[in-house]
Amino acid sequence: MENFDLIVIGGGPGGYEAAIEAAKKYGKKVALVESRELGGTCLNRGCIPTKTLIHTVGMYSELKTHGEEIGLTGGDSIGVNLSTLQARKNVVLEQLRSGIASLMKANKITVYEGRGTVIDSGRVDVNLNSGETLELSCENILIATGSVPAVPPIKGAELKGVVTSDELLDLSEPIESVTIIGGGVIGCEFASLFGSLGAKVTVVEALDKIIANLDRELSQNLKMLLSKSYGVEIHTGASVKEIKEEGDRIVTCFTEKEQAVEVSSDLVLMAVGRRPETSGLFTENASEAVKNIKLNRAAIVVNERYETSVNRIYAIGDVIGGIQLAHVATAEGRNAVALMYGGEAEINMNAVPSCIYTEPEIASVGIGPDIAKQEGIEVISKKYTMSANGK
Ligand code: FAD
Ligand code: NAD
Repeated sequence: MENFDLIVIGGGPGGYEAAIEAAKKYGKKVALVESRELGGTCLNRGCIPTKTLIHTVGMYSELKTHGEEIGLTGGDSIGVNLSTLQARKNVVLEQLRSGIASLMKANKITVYEGRGTVIDSGRVDVNLNSGETLELSCENILIATGSVPAVPPIKGAELKGVVTSDELLDLSEPIESVTIIGGGVIGCEFASLFGSLGAKVTVVEALDKIIANLDRELSQNLKMLLSKSYGVEIHTGASVKEIKEEGDRIVTCFTEKEQAVEVSSDLVLMAVGRRPETSGLFTENASEAVKNIKLNRAAIVVNERYETSVNRIYAIGDVIGGIQLAHVATAEGRNAVALMYGGEAEINMNAVPSCIYTEPEIASVGIGPDIAKQEGIEVISKKYTMSANGK
């Protein structure tokens, strides 16, 4: 049984950065277990592929809508070739994945391609993708298994035409219409993307505003701009009852202000949040302590030192819930490793920056004025219009 100082399960931005930190800064012997591709959700099904698509579509939309007025001609004849765009996206992802593989090698981190199962403090089994099973031992375990799209128990959610961001990112044929269930960050970024491409977009959000944790004013402005620029139709306070097929169309049935509404589209994107991924992590073979590891719904519960309820097992990133962002996972991973090996947590988790890549983009750091006021914090707000910025 090969022994390590640290075994990290999950090779996303939380796990692989934590592995590097432990190897490079603390000189530890580290293993990383990843069942799919290095880079996790962020690189393969999240931040990077979305932004690759948004980059091209943003250029297209800008040229098409404002080209003439800023002296660029030819906007009428330009188009988006989805298969070239997808091919370029795949090249970008492959380059970044091989960059991470090189970093693993450079830091002498052993990468196991397979599914990790926690057996006890100090023991992880790996079902290798090649079919064999390995038993590994270690001093500490760091769980960084991330999250997967949540699918609510709505009738028809399993239909072929109902997809999550995972599948939509690989779209190779243009679509004329899409209904997006969930007006959070993913819902709004895709609404902006498909709206710019000229598709008819409908957003169906359960709460009374889109991107609920944004200040009301920003949320209202985004709703207004998505509607004005791209004709995105946004229904808030809506409750989805059923999704059904009608020929090759998908019909989303919901109620809004007690009125029944039906919207027909080519596809439905389910974007109602992401579930912490713990499936297959704690099996029947695990010790009693591991089988009873403390969870809050699906999220692994940790203390301020990222310790789970089981001794020497730590967890970070999307799998512990909270703010699900790539740089948060990385920061938590680095902090956890520092705390494991006698260092100090160096990153302030109260000042988290975040960007929403809609058109227009929205950037923030920490909490906004609405939440600050709710928490009784005195707030000063100032406004500066971007049109007053010379550049
Ligand atoms: P993940 O990146 O989910 O990685 C976990 C890894 O663990 C996966 O590779 C998985 O295969 C592996 N794994 C799971 N179980 C096991 C097991 N038992 N054994 C071995 N391996 C296992 N965040 C931003 O900051 N900016 C953005 O612009 C942004 N855009 C996004 C766009 C989309 C469409 C999505 C879905 C997410 C986006 N995010 C963005 C969020 C970001 O991707 C996540 O917060 C981040 O990837 C979480 O990192 P992680 O390391 O915790 O987990
Ligand atoms: P989210 O939590 O941001 O939004 C989900 C939305 O779906 C919420 O507004 C919720 O009220 C709504 N909803 C839930 N159930 C519903 C139902 N049955 N009917 C209608 N609406 C329903 O989740 P997301 O948009 O799926 O994104 C997941 C995570 O990915 C986020 O936490 C985000 O941080 C991260 N992400 C970040 C970026 C970025 O940083 N630019 C981009 C994409 C995703």
